[in-house]
Amino acid sequence: MIYDVVQVGMGPVGLTMAALTAQAGHSVAVIERHQGLYGLPRAGHIDHEIVRILQSLDCEGPVLADSYPTLDYRWVNGAGETLLEFDWGAKAVSGYNSDYMQYQPVLEDALASRVRAAAEVTVLSGWEAVAFEEHDDHVEVVVRKTVYEPGNPRPIVTDEERVLRGRYLIGADGASSTVRRWLGIERSDLGFNERWLDVDARMKRPLTFDFDCGQICDPARPITVLPLGKRHRRWEWALLPGETVEELEKPETAWRLLADLGLGPDDLEIVRQLVYTFEARTAEQWRRGRTFLIGDAAHTMPPFMGQGMCSGMRDAKNLVWKLDLVLRGLASDALLDTFEEELRPYVLDWTVISLEAGRVPCITDVDAAAERDQRFRDGFRPPLPDFPQVRHGVIAAAPCAGELSLQGRVDGELFDRAHHAAGRWQVLSTVADPRTVLRAGQVEFLESLGCVFAHVGGEYADHFAVRGIEVSIARPDFYVFGAAPTLAELPALVDDLAARLRVPVAV
Ligand SMILES: Cc1cc2nc3c(=O)[nH]c(=O)nc-3n(C[C@H](O)[C@H](O)[C@H](O)COP(=O)(O)OP(=O)(O)OC[C@H]3O[C@@H](n4cnc5c(N)ncnc54)[C@H](O)[C@@H]3O)c2cc1C
Repeated sequence: MIYDVVQVGMGPVGLTMAALTAQAGHSVAVIERHQGLYGLPRAGHIDHEIVRILQSLDCEGPVLADSYPTLDYRWVNGAGETLLEFDWGAKAVSGYNSDYMQYQPVLEDALASRVRAAAEVTVLSGWEAVAFEEHDDHVEVVVRKTVYEPGNPRPIVTDEERVLRGRYLIGADGASSTVRRWLGIERSDLGFNERWLDVDARMKRPLTFDFDCGQICDPARPITVLPLGKRHRRWEWALLPGETVEELEKPETAWRLLADLGLGPDDLEIVRQLVYTFEARTAEQWRRGRTFLIGDAAHTMPPFMGQGMCSGMRDAKNLVWKLDLVLRGLASDALLDTFEEELRPYVLDWTVISLEAGRVPCITDVDAAAERDQRFRDGFRPPLPDFPQVRHGVIAAAPCAGELSLQGRVDGELFDRAHHAAGRWQVLSTVADPRTVLRAGQVEFLESLGCVFAHVGGEYADHFAVRGIEVSIARPDFYVFGAAPTLAELPALVDDLAARLRVPVAV
């Protein structure tokens, strides 16, 4: 059998990729060296776009039930004076609050149930991908069974072997990606290497904190304080010169640092204690032949804006709708090049924002920190631009192109759900049913893509009026392909879309 997709890695990005691929109706084999999910948190923050992706998979319920909308994300100096406040409490365009703090195992469990329930997915847990070969029309991946030895959490590779074949191969196998190594693709280092001790804990009783969420930019020791959903919390401490990983990973070190914050074993159970090196690296190519790198395999960034996993989940959403069109024979393989073309600059935007943001709390020189604090008092703000936009690829030269589309409510229900529109193209107009101005061939073309058409009002009327548009085409990954000031301009926009997808449309 040749699967449509063979995928290495079942972290959060791999789970998203597999669930979306299956939802699009394609067969996917997922190879994961561990027997089960990792089961411990890394990502704490997700944004509204990610919740809409989860919604498209019917997974947002359990995640939101255990999440906090991030209402107050602040950075303070060593004396507790506020340096920077982030506007993360607003209602956002995707139909949700702008940002949430969540507990990653809940998110992974929700995605995993979706993946395991999908008939299109074959999960090979406890198998490691060890070799690969590309042929004209498929790839072959050699996998070997893994076992655990008592007392060793790392899986050991055995001699039991299988070969899997797929039209395309996805490397969703994390920062030390095996797939990237097979392809000989190097990573560029964007120059950030800071070591922090991460301690995640379950609250044994309800606890409240004067400083609930943010960075304590104290040069004596920078600290991160975060809720992880409703039952867990995270603290991170920067390593100081001369401190060793071994020392910082001892349980007594965590308890000593927590005691400084007034917390002890009656309050918390530590679930994870690890020193991380926060870095920013990007694979020099994200596609080679039939293979794609996504998530941490393609890019890593420091966690100060909470965008590493979010960026990986966006990779999956972007790549799946393109693979879907190519696998259905509706677009040529060249469309897949736009995955990297669109997302490399987009992820770089987030990486630069994270790097700039990360330099603020990481200052440990007392004089430099005092200078920084004064600059903030004088009104300095690090360059933290708006949510990045898609600027290249399958994007029209038209109003709103590349920005996130609105998900408004229809009779109290979110549009994607009310119209069964998750993961589909959307042509929406505030004036009339958009089909009324299209040629039959254009309607047929859009229907072949699986498009939803709607005449919308309510929140859409305001959103469109502010932008001076009457009609918009949104892609399955929620980004606007293009919009137009009048509905009469829609046919030209549709022709532009067909041309960019290189699909002939009947005149
Ligand atoms: C302390 C910390 C805080 C963070 N905070 C945030 C945050 O707030 N928000 C955010 O969005 N991101 C955050 N991140 C980043 C986020 O955790 C990562 O971007 C995300 O987990 C990457 O997911 P992934 O699926 O790409 O890779 P991984 O989670 O690394 O998954 C890769 C999987 O591939 C498997 N694998 C690897 N090689 C093979 C092989 N050869 N065969 C079979 N299986 C294989 C591995 O076992 C693993 O399960 C944070 C990271 C850290 C460290």
